[in-house]
Amino acid sequence: MRPVTTAILSALAEEQQGLLERLQRPQRVQRAGREFWQGELHGQPVVLALSRIGKVAAATTATTLIEAFGAQRLVFTGVAGGVGPGVQVGDVVVADEFVQHDMDASPLFPRYQIPLYGRERFAVDATLSALLLRATHAGVTALQADLGAENLAGSQAVHQGLIASGDRFVSAAEEARLLHAALSDAGHPPLAVEMEGAAVAQVCHDYGIPFAAMRTISDRADDTAHVDFPKFVRDVASRYALAIIDEFVRQLPESH
Ligand code: SAH
Repeated sequence: MRPVTTAILSALAEEQQGLLERLQRPQRVQRAGREFWQGELHGQPVVLALSRIGKVAAATTATTLIEAFGAQRLVFTGVAGGVGPGVQVGDVVVADEFVQHDMDASPLFPRYQIPLYGRERFAVDATLSALLLRATHAGVTALQADLGAENLAGSQAVHQGLIASGDRFVSAAEEARLLHAALSDAGHPPLAVEMEGAAVAQVCHDYGIPFAAMRTISDRADDTAHVDFPKFVRDVASRYALAIIDEFVRQLPESH
């Protein structure tokens, strides 16, 4: 059986850097105005890409990974604002589903429903996501052992649940509260908010490609989000992404 190509999508350059340094037989390819890196990690064929920011940009990147690079499964790392109760800076959320918080074709379609799909949410692949969850626990434990839990942000709890995506950096406590309340009222209480995941989940659904995603919580989507976000990305998120994806790739089966 030929090994399957795994796409590793990072939201931020800081998260990709460590993976790039470890990439064996790296080959840089430009496509759709983006840079892709093909190579191997732990003997597995991979292609690394930056999602870029926002739903449309991330959808283009995901589509290119599938159509032009033959990616047969896709894993996505990034940072997000914590909006669920108890989801704190330094925690990790492994997605089980995604919703677009800015999708509103009402009254033609129910609020949050993606027109013509008849659904509000897109699920991750259960098997791939279970592997990512295990890798997340292992990666966080390894980081705590290496650096000391007190040198990482927060209590490093791992959550699993719904993530909301939309084309807004949510950076006001009142906005985050309203967003969480409106989604919860409609039956979609999110743990975290970010700007790309739901788009990539939808593309992977369209192509029937297994997809899994995790986000480290960089801020609480509140009035200090713009200060917390860059500091966290620089100091902590890049380490999380590398530790978790390294574990993940190590445990990946070579075929589906
Ligand atoms: N790196 C850019 C800004 C990125 S925008 C810069 O500093 O110039 C924020 C990124 O982090 C997006 O990719 C989004 O998915 C995620 N994110 C983190 N916190 C968020 C929040 N509070 N609201 C929305 N997206 C958030």
